[in-house]
Amino acid sequence: MKRRDFLKIAGALSLAGCAGTVPSKARVVIVGGGFGGATAAKYIRKWAPAVDVVLVERESAFVSCPISNLVLAGYSSMPEISQDYDGLRRHGVQVVRDEAIAVDAAKKTVRLARGGDIAYERLIVSPGIDFSFAEIEGYEAAMQAGRVLHAWKAGEQTVALRRQLEDLRDGGVVVLSIPLAPYRCPPGPYERASMIAAYLKQAKPRSKLLVLDANPDVTSKGALFKKAWADLYKGTLEYRGNAKAVAIDARSMTVKLEVEDVRGDVLNVVPPQRAGNIAQSAGLITHNNRWCDVDWRSMESRKVPGVHVLGDATLSAPLMPKSASMANNHAKIAAAAIIEQLSGRAPQSDTQILNTCYSFVSQKEAIRVSSVHRWDAKDGTLKPVAGAGGVSAARSEAEGTFAWNWARTIWADTLA
Ligand SMILES: Cc1cc2nc3c(=O)[nH]c(=O)nc-3n(C[C@H](O)[C@H](O)[C@H](O)COP(=O)(O)OP(=O)(O)OC[C@H]3O[C@@H](n4cnc5c(N)ncnc54)[C@H](O)[C@@H]3O)c2cc1C
Repeated sequence: MKRRDFLKIAGALSLAGCAGTVPSKARVVIVGGGFGGATAAKYIRKWAPAVDVVLVERESAFVSCPISNLVLAGYSSMPEISQDYDGLRRHGVQVVRDEAIAVDAAKKTVRLARGGDIAYERLIVSPGIDFSFAEIEGYEAAMQAGRVLHAWKAGEQTVALRRQLEDLRDGGVVVLSIPLAPYRCPPGPYERASMIAAYLKQAKPRSKLLVLDANPDVTSKGALFKKAWADLYKGTLEYRGNAKAVAIDARSMTVKLEVEDVRGDVLNVVPPQRAGNIAQSAGLITHNNRWCDVDWRSMESRKVPGVHVLGDATLSAPLMPKSASMANNHAKIAAAAIIEQLSGRAPQSDTQILNTCYSFVSQKEAIRVSSVHRWDAKDGTLKPVAGAGGVSAARSEAEGTFAWNWARTIWADTLA
């Protein structure tokens, strides 16, 4: 975001705060303390301290998906990608460890799993993704038996997948299956392929990684990933496009594609995704039973007034990735808009946000893609700005340093 754009928002917000027009008892409830929800909680408190902010999060700690692929290779660790919510508490956010199970938009209440309702003036829902397991026959049974993992929500499955890679015999086969786009983090599966291949090359040199992509080709930074694979992982990593997983046979450790069966010793199958369950039960989903359409000037649901949806759960604007970078920006749009709305004013309409996604291709080298998205009044959506952004010229250790700096900066911006 350019400085003048930030100042426009900052100016409007300080007006809202100074004028004291936000009702002193106004309460915003936020469901989900990931990149979207935690950032929104912090920025509403920072920009309008009179607003009561309650964050409902079912986990005790935040675990970052960005950098979690490095944990699989042994280049990072779970403590390094995990944080508690004390930073938000220091901003005056009330953090409630519970699961939101229903929303009554007419009464403006959120029901909690442990019992009780919380009333809100404005609600933010940032639940991330849940999985459409049923689209891959046998998936859930295989997962329950510990025979297949997705590790597409960082946490215990990340630890389990790392352990499976460590336990793999030298000469074994790892299968990584990628769903059709759109899914969380377009370059994420290809970064994972690079990290697993790096580990195999170093620790189990006779082993192989087979990447089965339901998409016809690598969906993000394709030329850069493929060059890295050819230069670094020839003989270790094999990539196949148009290879959609339709079933899993846990007993024979087989992933069934439309035309053939592929056997592996470790099965990392990333299933198709949709907005998190609470978005479904709150009636926020508008498209293909999967995603929630929003007004990009406020992030307010186009279906349920008074409820704002952030992050991966949204129906993406054109060429907008589902990324931590975007969720963090969505949160700032929503925080600014909600403060305006609580003050009886319309949200600003000149929204402009920036996305940057880094991917590691080896322990130290990374590649980057970035884009700028600006409100287009004619089409009523955010659109990529022509000529802004682009991809790295080549993989480099300098990009690797930037990638680590990006991660530490966004963790601090979200939680500290
Ligand atoms: C392997 C991998 C690598 C990635 N790398 C990058 C990267 O390098 N750069 C990048 O920008 N993005 C990256 N991403 C994408 C990024 O992680 C997501 O886009 C981002 O987390 C989305 O934020 P969110 O707030 O929508 O969801 P999340 O961050 O997943 O947060 C959702 C939160 O809501 C909570 N929750 C859900 N439902 C409820 C409920 N009913 N009640 C209470 N709590 C609830 C969950 O516990 C969770 O804490 C990566 C993703 C993966 C999987």
